Amino acid sequence: MGIAEEEIKRLKSGNCAENAVFFQAVEEVIYSIAPLLEKDHRYKRHAILERLVAPDRIFKFTVTWLDDNNIIQVNTGYRVQFNNALGPYKGGLRFHPSVNEGILKFLGFEQIFKNALTGLPIGGAKGGSDFNPKGKSDFEVMKFCSAFMMELHKYIGPRIDVPAGDIGVGGREIGYLFGEYKKITSSFEGVLTGKPFFFGGSLMRTEATGYGVIYFTQTMLDLEGKESLEGKICTVSGAGNVALHAIEKLQQIGAIPVSCTDSKGTIYDARGVDLELLKELKLQRRVSLEEYTNTHPEAEYTPVEEYPEGVHPVWDIPCYAAFPCATQNELNDIDAQNLIVNGCVSVTEGANMPSTTKAVSDFLSHKVCFAPAKAANAGGVAVSEFEMAQNASMSRWSFEKVDEKLKNTMQEICKRIALTARDYGVEGNYVDGANIAGFKKVADAMIAEGI
Ligand code: NDP
Repeated sequence: MGIAEEEIKRLKSGNCAENAVFFQAVEEVIYSIAPLLEKDHRYKRHAILERLVAPDRIFKFTVTWLDDNNIIQVNTGYRVQFNNALGPYKGGLRFHPSVNEGILKFLGFEQIFKNALTGLPIGGAKGGSDFNPKGKSDFEVMKFCSAFMMELHKYIGPRIDVPAGDIGVGGREIGYLFGEYKKITSSFEGVLTGKPFFFGGSLMRTEATGYGVIYFTQTMLDLEGKESLEGKICTVSGAGNVALHAIEKLQQIGAIPVSCTDSKGTIYDARGVDLELLKELKLQRRVSLEEYTNTHPEAEYTPVEEYPEGVHPVWDIPCYAAFPCATQNELNDIDAQNLIVNGCVSVTEGANMPSTTKAVSDFLSHKVCFAPAKAANAGGVAVSEFEMAQNASMSRWSFEKVDEKLKNTMQEICKRIALTARDYGVEGNYVDGANIAGFKKVADAMIAEGI
């Protein structure tokens, strides 16, 4: 039994179903780095793998708050501080009913490598709650955020752990969380990123992940000798922060994004999606995508109940490039086959681990250019780090400066991964390239720092 198999067996023994997504993320990394572990025995001697797959600590707490009818509501909150070998813990907060410890461990584990790939001094963490902001009034969201921070503030700090947003946590939630932190500690400091600009946020943080996804794809297509995105049909899933800004950047560079999805259904607008309308529906009115067809009756709307079993209709739309930007495991092997058969040339993960393991291996074996999330969506955390730097130096950078730095960062990540893949004999495999490059950076720091 090789090192990879041994470690996976050890991890899985005695664990519960909640950890399935965590194992999926860990397995992918372990298989990528197995040749490195076999070759360089320092990693085994320093028990790097065993230490890397176990979070430094997990905080779990009860969040009690009063709804608008003065009824007491109870949720569970978490912060998973995974690894701080390279810098303070850093990673988003997710508010969604599906949140549990396993999902946050998966996201925190991925975050270690993503943050390492940015080349910036940040460690990996993740947190959140099973609280569902959907359908709640602004006051209810505020009361929940205050109660959540009442506990979370004990574990975070600008040099300790700096949370940000994720699914269900945008500028509104970060604002309320920051306000409560300030009240409890009497300290105005950069303890959260993704803040609105007028009290310490960075310009471009909102756009960063989506724009970064496109910058990464442009570089990858160029390195792989493929045609650019200009004038090409692209499919995008999701209709949240990442998806909206990926669509925006695609339109800016002359590509034609024709789809978006939410938890209720899929929109296919063959003439190109109407971004202004999307923003109105999702950012202002916070309603279902179904309403898109009120303005554009010629667009097709497919509700979830009508999806063919085991298939997502968004991945059956012929496209040059696909961008899954909604959530984990939203693209399976059948979806991958549909994309491949329809001639898709590149797939870039905007969401965290949106493709199943089998889908990824199908893309790789069919030579589809495949950009894994931990590299392609690192633009958000990179600009978060820029926000920390601005907060620490009490400075403000222009939109153009942040955009330029973001573009450089994404290009550098892409090139470094491509080079690493080539050096390790897996040219063109951005999954292995990202895992090896990220692992080496963190593991070498762990060895240098001792136990
Ligand atoms: P948002 O909450 O802004 O949007 C999420 C979108 O995905 C919404 O359209 C939502 O639908 C849809 N969605 C969420 N869960 C499901 C589900 N179970 N099934 C179908 N659709 C679903 O989140 P973000 O755009 O911020 O995040 C999207 C992904 O990108 C996540 O994987 C996140 O971890 C990742 N990511 C985000 C970063 C950021 O900077 N925001 C940074 C790096 C990664 P509905 O509108 O119906 O709720």
